[in-house]
Amino acid sequence: MTAKFKIAICGGGIGGMCLAVALSKYPDIDIMVYEAASSLREVGAGVMLWGRTWRVITLLGLDKAFRNLAGVPADGSQDPKFSWTYRRSDGGDEGHHVHTLSLPSCPMHEYHRAHVLELLASMLPQHIVHLSKRVVSYQIDIDSSPVTIAFADGSTATCDILVGCDGIKSAVRKTMYEDLAKAGRPEMRKYIDPVWTGETVYRALIPAERVPRLRNGMMHPVLGSPVMYCGRYKHFMGYPIARGKWANVGAFFTTPNAVGTHYREPWVQESTSAELLSIFSGWELELQDVLKVIDKPLKWAIHQLLPLPTYTLGPVVLLGDAAHAMSTHHAAGAGQAFEDAYVLAGILGHPSVARRNISLALKAYEHIRLPLAAEVMSKSGKTGPMFEFRSPDSGDDYPSWVSALHRQFDWVESNDPSEQLEAALRWMRREEATSVVEHRL
Ligand SMILES: Cc1cc2nc3c(=O)[nH]c(=O)nc-3n(C[C@H](O)[C@H](O)[C@H](O)COP(=O)(O)OP(=O)(O)OC[C@H]3O[C@@H](n4cnc5c(N)ncnc54)[C@H](O)[C@@H]3O)c2cc1C
Repeated sequence: MTAKFKIAICGGGIGGMCLAVALSKYPDIDIMVYEAASSLREVGAGVMLWGRTWRVITLLGLDKAFRNLAGVPADGSQDPKFSWTYRRSDGGDEGHHVHTLSLPSCPMHEYHRAHVLELLASMLPQHIVHLSKRVVSYQIDIDSSPVTIAFADGSTATCDILVGCDGIKSAVRKTMYEDLAKAGRPEMRKYIDPVWTGETVYRALIPAERVPRLRNGMMHPVLGSPVMYCGRYKHFMGYPIARGKWANVGAFFTTPNAVGTHYREPWVQESTSAELLSIFSGWELELQDVLKVIDKPLKWAIHQLLPLPTYTLGPVVLLGDAAHAMSTHHAAGAGQAFEDAYVLAGILGHPSVARRNISLALKAYEHIRLPLAAEVMSKSGKTGPMFEFRSPDSGDDYPSWVSALHRQFDWVESNDPSEQLEAALRWMRREEATSVVEHRL
């Protein structure tokens, strides 16, 4: 079959690989993934997939494989439901329970990131993924093959559509926004570089056998259902992954008034358990017991993008962190990349989309996905301060805090991804009909 178009995906992370899997269902589309690293790899840490993300997984027919990876029955009968427990922990040896946020109709599974990436890669023919191919920039040439991609090794490749799935420091976004700036909008340059959220997270996996029991002999909550230890300017989250093999933990520390600044040190550095113990000194003992067994945590400066005004220019488009890298408080960045991938693949695979209307098709994706991802990004940004009882809306007035928390997470069960796709296709049809009428007039 002759391909209706050739799509190059820059970046083989969770977003790029999910897009490749979603597009692979359309035999008339040629796909190539160009990944900068010499192997597909993810940092050793956990990722939660839930809410609308789980719906995408189901719509793509991947639910059985993902349940198998999580070690639960394929029919969904024993899916864990979304439930997070929040404790107040910065008031001495004993903390206390504040609230458990439960969404009974929302399945939630926790994974080792590398396992998610391996699963997605296993669903693709090997020849699709090209490793050690770092994209440096691209050029659009409407007369021949529209996009020429330049790689760091000096080689080039061409495609009809280029999708930048190359993460928070995206080279594709850089070229796109440089082009917008050169076209008379110099203010567009401010969207190229990510900014610091003012937050630092110490991430680690603790082998389950090293996690201490509580002092009353019970299993520690970090091996049970997700738990968050909250207090002023800091919080700590933990949950089990890989069928309980590890506890995935993240200790967050906020530097006041640093939001939006540029971080001068390396974004990721090695740290120690002693550093963590000194940061959380005076916090409840059940947390301190866990901090003592954390070995060599990696300290990450959390960055995000300013909300982008556009995801697309001509035949080039952004997806995942390249489009909307956000703070981590809704455990939603990868989930948003899954939604992007589902909607974009559904549009590009639709019989009404061909070379003649590629730009409009990419605009339809942007029209639906940009505002939704921006909403999640904004909610995530506001939730971090809530976890640290410094939100201007709720502070540490617990009843207001609980109501505000529920409002923050209300996006999870709205805007079903299949409705997003339908809305995008409807928008495109309307735009095409309008331009035909205008043309006739
Ligand atoms: C502490 C923490 C916890 C999180 N927890 C969750 C969670 O529980 N749930 C959730 O949904 N999200 C979570 N996230 C967010 C999630 O990790 C990201 O949103 C997600 O990984 C983004 O995927 P991506 O594919 O867009 O980008 P990335 O994962 O960054 O992948 C980009 C890929 O592109 C490659 N690349 C980069 N530059 C180039 C180039 N120039 N040329 C070619 N290839 C290139 C990279 O090597 C990489 O493979 C968390 C984030 C953090 C920091």
